[in-house]
Amino acid sequence: MKVLVIGGGPAGMAAAVSAKEHGAGEVLLLERHSYLGGVLPQCIHNGFGTQLYERDYTGGEYAWLWKEKTEKAGVKLLLSTTVLGIEKLERDGSSGETPEGWRARCVSASSGAREITADAVIIATGCRERTLPQMLIPGSRPAGVFTAGAAQLMMNLKNYLPGKSAVILGSGDIGLIMARRMTLEGIRVKLILGQEATGLARNIVQCVEDYAIPMRYGWTLVSTHGYGRLKGVSVAPFDKDGQPDLSRKEYIPCDTLLVAAGLIPELEVCGDYRPGQDAGLFICGNAGFVHDLADHVTCEALETGRQAALYASGGKVKPDVGPDSSDGGFLPELTGKRGNMICTVCPKGCVMQVKSEPFSVKGNQCEKGQAFARQELENPKRVLTAVVKTDSDKAPVLSVRTDKAIDKSRLLPAMKAIKKVKVSGPVVPGQVVTKNIADTGADLIATWYIEE
Ligand SMILES: Cc1cc2nc3c(=O)[nH]c(=O)nc-3n(C[C@H](O)[C@H](O)[C@H](O)COP(=O)(O)OP(=O)(O)OC[C@H]3O[C@@H](n4cnc5c(N)ncnc54)[C@H](O)[C@@H]3O)c2cc1C
Repeated sequence: MKVLVIGGGPAGMAAAVSAKEHGAGEVLLLERHSYLGGVLPQCIHNGFGTQLYERDYTGGEYAWLWKEKTEKAGVKLLLSTTVLGIEKLERDGSSGETPEGWRARCVSASSGAREITADAVIIATGCRERTLPQMLIPGSRPAGVFTAGAAQLMMNLKNYLPGKSAVILGSGDIGLIMARRMTLEGIRVKLILGQEATGLARNIVQCVEDYAIPMRYGWTLVSTHGYGRLKGVSVAPFDKDGQPDLSRKEYIPCDTLLVAAGLIPELEVCGDYRPGQDAGLFICGNAGFVHDLADHVTCEALETGRQAALYASGGKVKPDVGPDSSDGGFLPELTGKRGNMICTVCPKGCVMQVKSEPFSVKGNQCEKGQAFARQELENPKRVLTAVVKTDSDKAPVLSVRTDKAIDKSRLLPAMKAIKKVKVSGPVVPGQVVTKNIADTGADLIATWYIEE
C-alpha cells in the first residue's frame, strides 16, 4: 500500500483523490462509518461550497460530490472500519529518521482485527465535541443534555426529536444552525447563550434573526437542574473579571440543553507520533485545527494528498509544518458595526448600508450585494432545508431542500407540508421528492441518498 488515508470526511476524500491523481499508485481510505462524508450528511443546511464552487450546496450534496470523485478516482474504500492506532516501521539499524513505512491496526465487524501497511499515512479524523463535564459546570447529569452534533445526528439522520423546549450554550455556527433546525421542527428555543458573536453573519441572520430566537451575549450557563430528565438551567452574565455574576442568576425552565461549546481535534490514532515531524505522517482537515468551512478543508487536503503522493513515490517533501491555521472566519467587521443589512449570499457577510428611497447600497464587496439588498427589502426569500420520512430501516429520514429560495413567510407552512411526505428508496441527490411543495412554486429535492 502506498498511501493510507484515515477518515472519510471532506478532508480524507480530497486527500485520497489528490494522492491518487498525483501518482501515489494504491490509495486506501479507511472510514469507521458505513458511508463517506464525515460530519457532512448530518449537516442538512446549505452553505457548503460557496467559496470553492460558488454554489450553495447542503452538507449532503457537498459530500455526494466528493463521494463520486473518490469512487471515480479509483481510491480503494474500507468502510465500517475503525483504526485503533498506527505504528512506525523502522528500517533495520536505522536511526528512525527514514521509516520503512507505517502500520495501522484496525477493526471491523465483518472482518475482525487486521493490520495494513503503507508508505505514507494521512490523518483526516476530524474533531470531537467538547462536552458539559469537560466544562466543569455544576449540577445534576439528567437526560436531555446533548452536544449539538449529537442532537443534529438524532434529528437529521435518526428521526428523533431531543425534547420540547431548549437552551443552547454556544453562539458559534453549530449552535445557531441547531437553533433554526429545532425551531423549524417545533421545539421552542428559549435562549442561546454566548460569550460573543462568533458565528458567521449569514447564520446570525438566517438562523436567529429570521425566527426571533432570543440570544444573550456575555452570558453563560452556571448549573443544570433535574434528576431523570432536565427541568431547567441557571444562567448568569459574566462580570468584569470574566466570572459569572451569580447575583444576577436566572432560572430558565427547559427539558433540553444543547452544548455547542467547541470542537477538539481527534488525534488518538497517532499515539505519540506527530504529523509533520514524523516522516511520512501527514494531517489535514479538522484533525489539524478547526476549520469554519468545508471548502477550506478541501483545499488544504488536496495539497496534503499531493505531498503524501510525492513522499510515497520517493520524492523529497519539504517537512510539513502542519496546516496553516489562519482560517479565522469571515466576521471581523461585524461586532459593533451592525448597520442596516448583512449580505448572506456568501460567508463574507458584508455589512451594507441600505436606503430604500431612493434605493442605494454601500459597503458591499461585490454586485451580488445590490441584488440581495433589493430582494431583502421587497420580498425576502430563503432556501428551506429539512428531512422527510422514509420506509427504509437503515435510513429513517432523508434530507431534502427546496430547489430555489421561497418567500420567508412560507417557510413554516412548507415545513408543515414536508412533515407529511414519505419516500421510498432508491433515491439520489437532486431527485425531485415533491413538486411545488405547499404551493411555494419550488420543488422539494433530495440532498442525500437511500439505497433501497
Ligand atoms: C453543525 C456543523 C455545521 C457546519 N456548517 C458548515 C457550513 O455551513 N459550511 C461549511 O463549509 N462547513 C460547515 N461545517 C464545517 C465542516 O463540516 C467541517 O469543516 C468538515 O466536515 C471537516 O472535515 P474533516 O474531513 O476534517 O472532518 P469530518 O467531517 O469530521 O470527518 C472525519 C471522519 O473521520 C472518521 N474517523 C475519525 N476517527 C476515525 C478512526 N479512528 N478510524 C476510522 N475513521 C475515523 C469519522 O468517522 C469521520 O467520517 C459545519 C460543521 C458542523 C459540525
